[in-house]
Amino acid sequence: MNTPVVTRFAPSPTGFLHIGGARTALFNYLYARGRGGKFLLRIEDTDRVRYTPAATDAILQGLSWLGLAHDGEVVSQHDQAPRHVEVAHALLEKGAAFKCFATQEEIEAFRETARAEGRSTLYRSPWRDADPATHPDAPFVVRIKAPDGGQTVIRDAVQGDVIIDNAQLDDMILLRSDGSPVYMLAVVVDDHDMGVTHVIRGDDHLNNAARQMMIYHGMGWDVPVWAHIPLIHGADGKKLSKRHGALGAEEYQKMGFPAAGMRNYLTRLGWSHGDDEFFTDAQARDWFDLDGIRKSPAQFDLKKLENICGQHIAASDDAALRQEIESYLDAAGLAELTSEQANGLERAMYCLKERAKTFPEILDKAEFILTARPIVPEEKAQKHLDAVSRGILSELTPHLQDASWSRETLEEVLNGFAAARDTKFGKLAGPLRAALAGRAVTPSVFDMMLVLGRDETLARLRDAASGTEA
Ligand code: GLU
Repeated sequence: MNTPVVTRFAPSPTGFLHIGGARTALFNYLYARGRGGKFLLRIEDTDRVRYTPAATDAILQGLSWLGLAHDGEVVSQHDQAPRHVEVAHALLEKGAAFKCFATQEEIEAFRETARAEGRSTLYRSPWRDADPATHPDAPFVVRIKAPDGGQTVIRDAVQGDVIIDNAQLDDMILLRSDGSPVYMLAVVVDDHDMGVTHVIRGDDHLNNAARQMMIYHGMGWDVPVWAHIPLIHGADGKKLSKRHGALGAEEYQKMGFPAAGMRNYLTRLGWSHGDDEFFTDAQARDWFDLDGIRKSPAQFDLKKLENICGQHIAASDDAALRQEIESYLDAAGLAELTSEQANGLERAMYCLKERAKTFPEILDKAEFILTARPIVPEEKAQKHLDAVSRGILSELTPHLQDASWSRETLEEVLNGFAAARDTKFGKLAGPLRAALAGRAVTPSVFDMMLVLGRDETLARLRDAASGTEA
């Protein structure tokens, strides 16, 4: 029987969920979920100087927005410190690690000589093979014994076999002189203890893999499947940085991108399934694999993100969109909708969601339903409400009074009214938009009438007809 897949996302709590981290989380999530496995979350909070609980909350919040629910409890790396120490001692007992009594000065002197002789400055301690009987009563660190000669092969699911000369590995510290464990040890112990079978992470950790391998070998533990994914670059081909715009997932939430679109876009960022650009969560789960991850860095492209988000909005259910928009307003710190506004928004959604790429775009188009009478026309709309237009509107109103409120009838009435005046419906559209929405650009007049209903439509037309020129 195959071992069940266990993946993990192991962010350092930096105060926000980096967009690259969000993609790493998503890849791990999809890989596990597509295989009936587990997706675990570990916060790498060993740097206590910089650690704040708010930094962890920001990551949890970002993951929750993206719908990347993890299994089990959140693991705090810091809380596992005693276990990390225990493993360092086990390595000592096995002879895979040793106590090193070298002083800072001695290490510096080693480096200087190595530099002068053109040798590698990676530290190999003279204590690696010392007889414990010769150990002084002095402070020490615990170091792993780097392999002598030979090569380490990392069988990476994305990068292929990565071969590292063991001469490039140092006698890495496992426990500092105060007995505290280093990060590199913590990662390996935690991954092993959490039963992680697949580690999908940024390729900035590829060099660490060779060093981490020493610990796996020392303990005789199975090495997980590693998949080091290329980092995300900006459109200029450089590593994604603040210069390229928003870096935190929550910034995209506040810009009003739908989470489903964000997930789809991030999944496509560095992974492909044929030519498929748009896919559902279920498809992503079914299709995602390590073979589809590209070796070259993916470029973040806002236009593509918008395009995919637009497709997700168009495909979404109206009630779900309403809820998402309400959450967006909350996340962005904007005023919440009254229930009347939210109901109106949902009724109008069918005509708002076409071609909208973000929630603010939907809300902008929804202005006609969110604003109550009296409608105050904006400047561009005002010119459609001159005396002549107001006259037309007041003539039109009685024709709508008893019309059945269906698209067909409304089209018949308005087209008939225009024809009787030897004009086209297009000529009526400006005044109607101005009267119904106070704007020159709006959803279709028929959609607005249908969404507003007869009474509200007639009231707005009367208001406009009886108004005065600005
Ligand atoms: N905490 C590391 C980071 O945020 C990830 C370590 C790992 O995935 O092994 O970059």
